[in-house]
Amino acid sequence: MPNTLFDVLVIGGGPGGYVAAIRAAQLGLKTACCESNPYADPKGEPRLGGTCLNVGCIPSKALLHTSHLFEEATHSFAAQGIGVGKPKIDASKMIARKDAIVNQLTTGIKGLFKKNKVTFLAGHGSFVGQDGQGNWQMQVGDKQYIARHVILATGSSPRHLPGIPVDNELICDNVGALRISSVPKKLAIIGAGVIGLEMGSVWRRLGAEVTILEALPDFLAAADQDIAKEARKLFTRQGLTIHTGCKVDAVKTSKKGVAIAWTNKDGKAATLEADRLIVSVGRQPNTAGLNADEVRLATNERGQIEVNEYCQTNLPNVWAIGDVVRGPMLAHKASEEGVMVAERIAGQAGHCNLALIPSVVYTSPEIAWVGQTEQALKAAGVAIKVGKIPYLANGRALGMDARDGFVKTIACAQTDRILGVHIIGANASELIAEAVVAMEFGASSEDIARICHAHPTLSEVLHESALACDGRALHF
Ligand code: FAD
Ligand code: NAD
Repeated sequence: MPNTLFDVLVIGGGPGGYVAAIRAAQLGLKTACCESNPYADPKGEPRLGGTCLNVGCIPSKALLHTSHLFEEATHSFAAQGIGVGKPKIDASKMIARKDAIVNQLTTGIKGLFKKNKVTFLAGHGSFVGQDGQGNWQMQVGDKQYIARHVILATGSSPRHLPGIPVDNELICDNVGALRISSVPKKLAIIGAGVIGLEMGSVWRRLGAEVTILEALPDFLAAADQDIAKEARKLFTRQGLTIHTGCKVDAVKTSKKGVAIAWTNKDGKAATLEADRLIVSVGRQPNTAGLNADEVRLATNERGQIEVNEYCQTNLPNVWAIGDVVRGPMLAHKASEEGVMVAERIAGQAGHCNLALIPSVVYTSPEIAWVGQTEQALKAAGVAIKVGKIPYLANGRALGMDARDGFVKTIACAQTDRILGVHIIGANASELIAEAVVAMEFGASSEDIARICHAHPTLSEVLHESALACDGRALHF
């Protein structure tokens, strides 16, 4: 029997792959998506949703929410006249709630596949070769399929460090970190990036003593340094211990936990003992097992699949999207590229603007930005004007007991075009959307300044920061 022919075969069912598959099917293309992860659903099949839904964005945000409520109940309720006694945390219940959310969403994608007529294939996908008509022969599990187009959406895996074996019990990457079911007394984290700060916040709020060891001398080096400075001050005030410019020398495990030998920024030897260790030092693209060498798929020195601005690889009708290619490792970026590729395969003009992908860190306060930082613009010699407004000048923020943080809008000094918006403060993750829309439409700071913002809302802080670019803030 001849192998089934698909217009599009997507390898990987994360937010890049499953979104690409749904969009391709919506456009009338006969589409399949394969997935091979070990996170089995009740039917014993791999779950869809990739890192994001299974062991990333969604479970981490569920834990951040629970721990935020716990912290509010512990520290903020009394000042507002609410007496609830000393709150207690049942960490295994928190984990069970998180698992239920993951279950609901990952199962939901299978429903979306059915609705959109995407064929789900359980199994590992790889190249076999090309047939005489230029179609791709693909292996998925123990079956072969033919595809006119292949979209590689294989994602990324946590980077581990030599000599620090991750068992996801005592020493965890993101997978183990999201299923810790009792509050550690002392938690050590290597890497003060997004995962380190988010997971560190969860367990600090629930009572752990958290110490983060970061190799770089700068804290949150990718963020605007004004924001990074404020974040470090606030996180330290909350009780996170953050060491930058340090080198981890050795990690030893024992029945008692982990002992970390490290060297601080001044070159002095130090030790840190903890019940658990989280290693969050970045992620690496998944390309192993694709038979990529056999078909001569080009990768770069970072192991990412080489693509152009439209996510085309060096092979005809083979596309790659998401964490496995260049650009920020973010779910919404992966999905955006998935939609673009599906539309281009269907002959449409899909595009993805990598310059305006918003970044969010879901700490408290949240951090969010889009566009360029002040330091990058200054280094490029761009003349800028900056409007910076603190949350404490905003009535809604005071009412919400959310006075920490600020919004900083950066505009071009000559044209007034907005070049970057940087927020540290409550609901930054939602507020940044206005900045993304404005910048996608090429807005000036005056455009935002002249738009009516509802009162009282936190969006007024963004409004005021745009006014401040022209030196005419009304409430600060
Ligand atoms: P993935 O989600 O990694 O999916 C790839 C899928 O392909 C996997 O399921 C894998 O099993 C499968 N696969 C790989 N190879 C094969 C093969 N050969 N055959 C079949 N299947 C294969 N991003 C955000 O935007 N916001 C957040 O809040 C956020 N929080 C995060 C929190 C954590 C703890 C982590 C680890 C990540 C977080 N991210 C967040 C990043 C986000 O999860 C990734 O950027 C996103 O999942 C990338 O999507 P993707 O589709 O490219 O890859
Ligand atoms: P990251 O790149 O955000 O941070 C890694 C940190 O580890 C960096 O600060 C780096 O300097 C440091 N580091 C590297 N090697 C080290 C070493 N040997 N010792 C000490 N520090 C070291 O990576 P992550 O936190 O692992 O997250 C992985 C990816 O997942 C990120 O790219 C991020 O985009 C994504 N993610 C996003 C979100 C979000 O959008 N809210 C949340 C979590 C993860």
